[in-house]
Amino acid sequence: MLTPRKELNCVPDYVPGKSIDEIKEKYNLGRVIKLASNENPLGPSPMAMAAYKKCTQKLHLYPRGSAPELAKKLAAKWKVKEENLIIGNGSDEILDLAARAYLNKGDLALGADSTFSVYSSVTRFAGAKYKALPLKNFCYPLEVLKSAKIIFICNPNNPTGTYYSSKKIFDFLKKVPENILVVLDMAYWEFTGKGEPPLNKWIKLFPNLLCTRTFSKLYGLASLRVGYAIASGQIISALKKIKPPFNTNYPAQMAAAAALDDTAFVEETLQMNAAERDDLTFALEVLGFEVLPSGANFVCVKIGKFAKEFVEHLESKGVVVRHLKSFGMPEWVRITVGTPKENAVLLKAILAKNK
Ligand SMILES: *Cc1c(COP(=O)(O)O)cnc(C)c1O
Repeated sequence: MLTPRKELNCVPDYVPGKSIDEIKEKYNLGRVIKLASNENPLGPSPMAMAAYKKCTQKLHLYPRGSAPELAKKLAAKWKVKEENLIIGNGSDEILDLAARAYLNKGDLALGADSTFSVYSSVTRFAGAKYKALPLKNFCYPLEVLKSAKIIFICNPNNPTGTYYSSKKIFDFLKKVPENILVVLDMAYWEFTGKGEPPLNKWIKLFPNLLCTRTFSKLYGLASLRVGYAIASGQIISALKKIKPPFNTNYPAQMAAAAALDDTAFVEETLQMNAAERDDLTFALEVLGFEVLPSGANFVCVKIGKFAKEFVEHLESKGVVVRHLKSFGMPEWVRITVGTPKENAVLLKAILAKNK
């Protein structure tokens, strides 16, 4: 019999948020709101959409794998050289490249028991072991294990939304020996409103640091699959060695580059998210739920034993949220902060349950 590599047996299937069409069909609904995958409720950046549309004449050409227009803009934004940047088919791809480039069979990678599942999957695909440290008071466990080869840090953490300050991360990085790769996943950092750490300085001080970012959340481009990482030239060239040559497509590259200039959209997204996150947190607390303090575009809410039924009830009312069972938090749900209207529909659907 033909058998795939045995590492594949210990990787559970990725559990995505349910899609709008899936729920529409299941409950025969005309309108469904998806608050399950932390997408931008305002849609894609308008400037990105315009740039994307301009690309149709070039669809017959292979893209340039280095995404030069986008790389140039990112280098200017972060004040780094292009050799300190890699652009990926989503930041997920970069996580996979990092695992494949650095993990030998039997190596250990560290993460948390409730965090983004991609860290453990890419580790196992690479034939290495994944150790999930328990969260501490719902915060990511910042620990160094000298035997680890990679430490994955999700800051803010998905799904709790909790996060450490740049200072705290900096102090942690100082403690990590240089032969351990630190993958710092900052997919949601902009939503903290805290300003950017000087990543250009950090990568000089810490040649073992790989910081990943994404266009999927703030810029509203999840479907286009564009993410990137900033790191020392040494790490970036290792990842580029195994990067598929045409990993990002041309319309995606151009749309992402345009999104970087869309300051009005970014501002609107951040302002709405901050205001709605506060309001939603308050409203859920008034209803008696425990809500973790969030620096992201979602909130993590304790529902209790009937979390699964709670999620199903909301789905039947046309609101999709994420049950956190697959994240190791079966009594909790994660709710993406929506528009004021969407959040009102969500709260109404929750209340309809108690009647
Ligand atoms: C959404 C998310 C990403 C982004 O993944 P992409 O592949 O860039 O879409 C990365 N890390 C975390 C923790 C996320 O939640």
